Amino acid sequence: MEFIEDTESYRDHIATVDQEGKRIWMYPKKPSGRFYNYRTWVSFAFLVLFLVFPFIKVNGSQFLLFDVIHRRFVLFGILFTPQDFYLFGLAMLTMFVFIILFTVVYGRLFCGWVCPQTVFMEMVFRKIEYWIEGDGNDQRRLNSAPWTSDKIRKKTLKHLIFFVIAVVVANYFMAYIIGTDEVLKIIREPVEMHVGGFIGMLIFSGIFYGVFAFLREQVCTTICPYGRLQGVLLVKDSIVVAYDFIRGEPRGKLKNNVPRIPWKAFRSKMPSSPPVIVSTANFVSMFARRALISEMVRNWNALTARHVLMHVTW
Ligand code: SF4
Repeated sequence: MEFIEDTESYRDHIATVDQEGKRIWMYPKKPSGRFYNYRTWVSFAFLVLFLVFPFIKVNGSQFLLFDVIHRRFVLFGILFTPQDFYLFGLAMLTMFVFIILFTVVYGRLFCGWVCPQTVFMEMVFRKIEYWIEGDGNDQRRLNSAPWTSDKIRKKTLKHLIFFVIAVVVANYFMAYIIGTDEVLKIIREPVEMHVGGFIGMLIFSGIFYGVFAFLREQVCTTICPYGRLQGVLLVKDSIVVAYDFIRGEPRGKLKNNVPRIPWKAFRSKMPSSPPVIVSTANFVSMFARRALISEMVRNWNALTARHVLMHVTW
């Protein structure tokens, strides 16, 4: 047991920060495979909806509008005003309960397939990066290489495209907040007539560019409240792709005279648990197993992050 505790130091820090507190830049390998292809198609559908919804009108109202400034909210063409706030309260309560139960069963499914941060980062910006700079190792080599004309050309092209996409996303984002008609006016009419709107566009463009070009996965580990909560929402039966410390620790290349963890023997002593299998049958059976939910409720107070992480790695 002592041997296993020694290998768990990776839990004491996040993998994207070094000993001095500096960021470790990630160079993920270009993914491929059946599920990645599915995710690409699902993301493509979300992106189409994101781009189309601002132009759909129902009975003269925008299909989806979250006009915080004028306190007008339109969901699927139905107008909600501050008088309907009690509905918002009920919807929030329902959503929180749903999110908790959904995460217990399906793990980070939302993060991987639905979250806008993932859809834009992995399916738009990352794909452009792979196209311009190559796979993860090529990107690493390029970043550590001196500033040649080829590097300048690639970096300039990448950041130019990133910024243009960020501006487009910012405009669409504002269309959901102040309305498509208002955004079109800001675009078509002189800047001095819409100084506030123009500044808003610049700010949102800068935010989106900063998030997708530089901040990236840090959003999940440091900003997103859902990401922070997941440590206490997962149980051993949650469907989640997680780091398997028994196979991965200690890190580094295999050496003849350095002992590895006898992970097969160790795993055989662990409580049996279904492997992480992502299939429809697995989804259904997980949802049907009420014991999972009751186990969560029973163990709620005992669910420390460490406890859950141990579960997850099993
Ligand atoms: S942790 Fe938050 S930002 Fe990150 S993928 Fe999940 S929901 Fe999205």
